[in-house]
Amino acid sequence: MEPFKLIHPNDQHAAIASSGAANVKFIAGGTNLIDLMKLDIEKPAQLVDINSLKLQTIEALPNGSVRIGALVKNSDLAYHPVIVKNYPVLSEALLSGASPQLRNMATVGGNLLQRTRCPYFYDTSFPCNKRVPGSGCSAINGYNRNNAVLGTSTQCIATHPSDMCVAMAALGAIVHVEGLTGKRQIPFHEFHLLPEQTPQYETTLKHGELITAVELPPIRYSAKSHYLKVRDRHSYEFALASAAVALNVSNGRIEAARVALGGVGTKPWRSVEAEKALVGAAADEQSYRNAAEAALNGAKPFKDNAFKIELAKRTLVRALKTVGGMS
Ligand SMILES: Cc1cc2nc3c(=O)[nH]c(=O)nc-3n(C[C@H](O)[C@H](O)[C@H](O)COP(=O)(O)OP(=O)(O)OC[C@H]3O[C@@H](n4cnc5c(N)ncnc54)[C@H](O)[C@@H]3O)c2cc1C
Ligand code: SF4
Repeated sequence: MEPFKLIHPNDQHAAIASSGAANVKFIAGGTNLIDLMKLDIEKPAQLVDINSLKLQTIEALPNGSVRIGALVKNSDLAYHPVIVKNYPVLSEALLSGASPQLRNMATVGGNLLQRTRCPYFYDTSFPCNKRVPGSGCSAINGYNRNNAVLGTSTQCIATHPSDMCVAMAALGAIVHVEGLTGKRQIPFHEFHLLPEQTPQYETTLKHGELITAVELPPIRYSAKSHYLKVRDRHSYEFALASAAVALNVSNGRIEAARVALGGVGTKPWRSVEAEKALVGAAADEQSYRNAAEAALNGAKPFKDNAFKIELAKRTLVRALKTVGGMS
């Protein structure tokens, strides 16, 4: 690990003011950043510890939204009564991630920015375009069982590893950020980037911008939602495939739907195609299967991960059955 300076500002403006230089980074729970620093993948000259900032609250707003501070711990969010009751998909996604100890440290802001678990990204003896732009992608012709089948490019096929983000994608969350030039709000589907030709750029957050909160807009039927994660072992493991779904079913017909997939996409993968296939259809197995076909239409398998396409379809069908039942 390279030597670095650590500062502890206790107000938001001071934190933002000290983060402008190129090799300065914020640190929250440190559960991803410190690992990357130990491996010399991240080498900040200065860390800005943001843990004293007042970004730890979860508030129900008068317009029906819920505003979650960026420093809310993953476990506190998962067990918050409003989230458990109105957004079970988010609570379940959080509780499926990492381990209790990690969830007690990990924050909402840090979870949004966690980096891929592609093994070649972590092993600095291999070429990796995300770590060293232009060096090549070791996964495309290498061992790629855990890599993505949706949103890949010729430069990178790494999955986005977050569970929380899949639920937030389905819920159409809004990311609130503040930088030296002011505040802005980023719709969730615009926050994470596809790898395309520049996999080193992963989000639309500008350098020095602080994530201050995530807002969950009111969705009438979000209480009828579910997160299903399929993985090699039942705990402490990233998804091979996962599905976040919310459904509004009336008299056996689907009136509204939200669908997002994890473990298979290069970003948290909201599927408007699956949502379109569901709305107006009967709440039955055939409709769920049609939605799964639509969601994975265009998926591109690699040498070791073709199984993920059928796995993701079955994961989505099972999640939809759990929420929508079968008419
Ligand atoms: C062994 C292990 C298993 C795991 N398993 C899972 C899993 O199954 N599912 C899953 O979803 N996750 C999993 N994780 C990842 C874990 O969820 C993330 O490490 C965690 O959410 C990161 O949050 P943090 O607060 O610790 O971030 P940090 O490590 O502090 O920061 C991560 C990044 O975010 C930036 N940052 C943090 N907060 C802000 C902010 N407010 N504004 C701007 N930038 C910010 C930092 O500069 C850094 O670049 C696992 C991690 C480990 C180590
Ligand atoms: S898939 Fe992406 S992260 Fe993995 S080796 Fe290729 S460029 Fe690096």
